[in-house]
Amino acid sequence: MGEAKATTAIMTALAGGLGLLALMTLAYGTVLCQLGDRPRLRQMCLGLLFGAGGVAAMLQSIPVAPGVYLDLKAVPVALAAPFGGTLAAILAAGIVATGRIAIGGAGMLPGVAGILLAGAAGLLMSRMVPTVEWRGARPLLVLAPLSALNTLGIFVLPWGVALPTFIHGGLPVALFTVVGILMLGTMLARERRRIDTERLLRDAALCDPLTGLSNRRAFSGAIDRIVAGAVRNDSSLSLLMLDIDHFKEVNDARGHDAGDAVLVALSRVLERGVRQSDLVARFGGEEFAILLPSTSLDGAYQLAERLRCAVRDCDIQHDGVLLHVTVSIGVSTLAPNADRPDTLIKAADVALYCAKTNGRDRVCRARSPCQMPVPAA
Ligand code: GH3
Ligand code: MG
Ligand code: MG
Repeated sequence: MGEAKATTAIMTALAGGLGLLALMTLAYGTVLCQLGDRPRLRQMCLGLLFGAGGVAAMLQSIPVAPGVYLDLKAVPVALAAPFGGTLAAILAAGIVATGRIAIGGAGMLPGVAGILLAGAAGLLMSRMVPTVEWRGARPLLVLAPLSALNTLGIFVLPWGVALPTFIHGGLPVALFTVVGILMLGTMLARERRRIDTERLLRDAALCDPLTGLSNRRAFSGAIDRIVAGAVRNDSSLSLLMLDIDHFKEVNDARGHDAGDAVLVALSRVLERGVRQSDLVARFGGEEFAILLPSTSLDGAYQLAERLRCAVRDCDIQHDGVLLHVTVSIGVSTLAPNADRPDTLIKAADVALYCAKTNGRDRVCRARSPCQMPVPAA
């Protein structure tokens, strides 16, 4: 009866531990979402998360002998390397081992040995199995039993104590460790897949598939943010609207593929010609927008001239034929006290129209005399 009660207590506590580990999945997804592009900080946060998971699992431990506790701390420690990286694994193992040392007791040594064993199993497996494989459950089928071996640490105790402790405590914990790793690992893998897919979809929604530049949707989102920042900081901001001259003739004479090759080559010329902080976007068809933070109208005009010359001098190879195009560019700048992105775009558009009507292959500034479109006769 006493034994049955103890087994029930172990099962109940371990099941609670599994619930706790499941909560980690939520936090894991949040860290991946928020820190996807900051790997070092992400690994540190995941190390803290897996470490905290292990400590929380220890708080639900079952005392099976004086100073000997059984729990699921090995689960987050083993999963830290494949799902968080090496730094996360070292941090997690360090935190959980420190926690176990703080608890102390006769089981401290086997406890710490078990933590290190689970951490080493995770590290070893993460090195041997490519990251993409961790999107599925297969590597977990090896990692789970490998990490469950940490319960063998019980045999550091005297044999008379170790055997019954292992049978009544070690085996259920090994079983729950296997289940815990399979369960939590599967949930983490699914969360990672979900976040990767979300990121891919978001990138696809904001990226022009032909040129790889930001598309109009991305540009619209960015210009609102950048204009607001420029107004707040009272800094200059300029915009170039650029359109390929007589592009229809390229398509008509050389075919649509040649037109596409021109669009791609032009995109590279524009990207190479601007600063990293500038935003080059395909605004539509053969029209491009370039947002230039901290750039005055004069500075933007000079850059536009440089880009115009770079495009004109660029040899575009397609199917053994050299293609050449020119561009017309309209330049506008954020007026003091004018905080509307659409005003900036409209002004650059009007200036672009001016460049077209004045002969193409030229740059026109907004608010210059040529700004007003020539009325149709
Ligand atoms: P303008 O100097 O006045 O700008 O003349 P244009 O010929 O460049 O302008 P127009 O608006 O008459 O033609 C634009 C052409 O751009 C027509 C369209 O088929 C082509 N175009 C738009 N998007 C793409 C694309 O993705 N690939 C290719 N190959 N052509 C495209
Ligand atoms: Mg054109
Ligand atoms: Mg056009």
